[in-house]
Amino acid sequence: MSLSLEANLSTILNNVRQSCEKVGRNHDEITVIGVTKYVTIERAQEAVDKGICHLGENRLEGLIDKYQHVTGKVHWHFIGSLQSRKVKDLIDKVDMIHSLDRMSLAKEIHKRATKSIDCFVQVNTSGEESKHGLHPDDVHSFIEKLAPYTNVRVVGLMTMAPHVDDESILRQTFSTLRALRDDINKKQLDYAPCSYLSMGMSNDYQIAIEEGATHIRIGTKLVGSN
Ligand SMILES: *Cc1c(COP(=O)(O)O)cnc(C)c1O
Repeated sequence: MSLSLEANLSTILNNVRQSCEKVGRNHDEITVIGVTKYVTIERAQEAVDKGICHLGENRLEGLIDKYQHVTGKVHWHFIGSLQSRKVKDLIDKVDMIHSLDRMSLAKEIHKRATKSIDCFVQVNTSGEESKHGLHPDDVHSFIEKLAPYTNVRVVGLMTMAPHVDDESILRQTFSTLRALRDDINKKQLDYAPCSYLSMGMSNDYQIAIEEGATHIRIGTKLVGSN
């Protein structure tokens, strides 16, 4: 059984407001992405009808399926690891790619895109081997090398926190990403404004917001997981 989407959404929006207030941020800075990877097309449609206009999927097949059937104004986010050979089928459907993590993928996005694509560079801030993303030490040189691929626009950095309850560990992974973002943002690269932070999921989005998140990706606690 899935909980009322309306109730979930109002809880999340309240929590977003509270977390913003706590650290003196404006809640308008936060984009809530409804992650629909676990749920049906009907449930995704319900989310859109209730006013969620950003949806995220982590697999190409899931994104195309929802993209073809969900009606209304939707901004599509690709949040999963992306194989280069799948870029051509994805590129004209997404507003943002959250998982740029290697040069070969940047080349493919550049080659297949007909306009510049907003991308987050994914960073492994927790050091867990199971996580995708660049080592924090490699992010600067990676972004510098993106300059020739003019269809790739680095709008920010993305991370996934480890699955732990220890708040200090969560804060540390998020603040590491923010510090990196600040350093890159200061360089004022025209192809890499790098002003956004995609971080925070069902279990940690409030902490992520306190640490500077601009895009939170919520599945289980918004649309559910069945
Ligand atoms: C599944 C997923 C989410 C959402 O996870 P929940 O814990 O269900 O909110 C967010 N980001 C990424 C990259 C995911 O794969």
